[in-house]
Amino acid sequence: MSPVVIEGNQPGGQLTTTTEVENFPGFPDGIMGPELMDNMRKQAERFGATFVRGSVVSVDLKRYPFRVVLEDSKEYYSESIIMSTGASAKMLGIPGEKEMVGRGVSTCATCDGFFFRDKSVIVVGGGDSAMEEAIFLTKFASQVTIVHRRNELRASKVMQDRARNNPKIKWILNVTPVGVVSDGTKVNGLVVKDNPSGQERTVPTDGVFVAIGHTPNTGFLKDQLELDDRGYIITKGSSTATSVQGVFACGDVMDPQYRQAITAAGSGCKAALDVEKFLEGQPRAQLAGVTT
Ligand code: NAP
Repeated sequence: MSPVVIEGNQPGGQLTTTTEVENFPGFPDGIMGPELMDNMRKQAERFGATFVRGSVVSVDLKRYPFRVVLEDSKEYYSESIIMSTGASAKMLGIPGEKEMVGRGVSTCATCDGFFFRDKSVIVVGGGDSAMEEAIFLTKFASQVTIVHRRNELRASKVMQDRARNNPKIKWILNVTPVGVVSDGTKVNGLVVKDNPSGQERTVPTDGVFVAIGHTPNTGFLKDQLELDDRGYIITKGSSTATSVQGVFACGDVMDPQYRQAITAAGSGCKAALDVEKFLEGQPRAQLAGVTT
């Protein structure tokens, strides 16, 4: 096979924006996310994968071989495709937030919680993810404050109860986060606006975990593959097969639940095996050159 990896505009994906990865097997001392992705890239290259920079803007899965179009209008044709475009954590979009990602602002407690041992942190959000992240962070942090924009939580009752019964968790409800305060190297606070009064105040904190949901990167797949109501690719049973024969999906783009590097890598392996099996039973398509 001659696999081509279209890397997108953030080669290596979400792991390149994190620091230490502690739960990837084989690295007893942990490994930095960017280093892990660099290693994976080299490993794939060693087996003949070629890499293309750029993002896919559209695909045509109704014809065969499938067609993939990049933002510079280059077209690629392929006998099989694995969709592994991942998901992007939603951000608040407030001043000070983007600059401090990886330096006190995080979207992944499992990845970064370890660095907040005995520190005070804020989790923004009122859904199950926010409850889960907050509960997880109590393992490390001395205090976790959940900041939510309404008085009612969106989270399931069981998760709410678990969070409410945790003595390390404090609540600030009905406020809108408006800014992250930092000295450029570390976070010092989160500015929140009280919704009824409009008054602003700074809540001191060492870290801000944004847990307001994820968006699967499937905008370019609309009307081409079956997606669920949140935009995740639907796969069949325990396989990586999608609604189009010969197209497979793995990782965060089809998994709203686990979202770990290791579960994504495992499903990537499954997708590669599924592709191999599909191609074995497939008459070779006429590919007039790989690219045009
Ligand atoms: P979610 O249910 O969509 O909740 C997102 C939360 O973030 C909401 O409380 C929302 O506030 C808040 N939010 C959204 N945009 C915001 C903004 N710009 N500023 C401030 N707050 C904002 O997302 P999720 O918690 O990631 O959960 C996604 C799905 O996965 C859900 O179906 C959930 O049940 C599931 N899940 C389950 C578990 C579990 O069972 N263990 C764990 C994680 C996730 P509003 O409420 O005001 O809209």
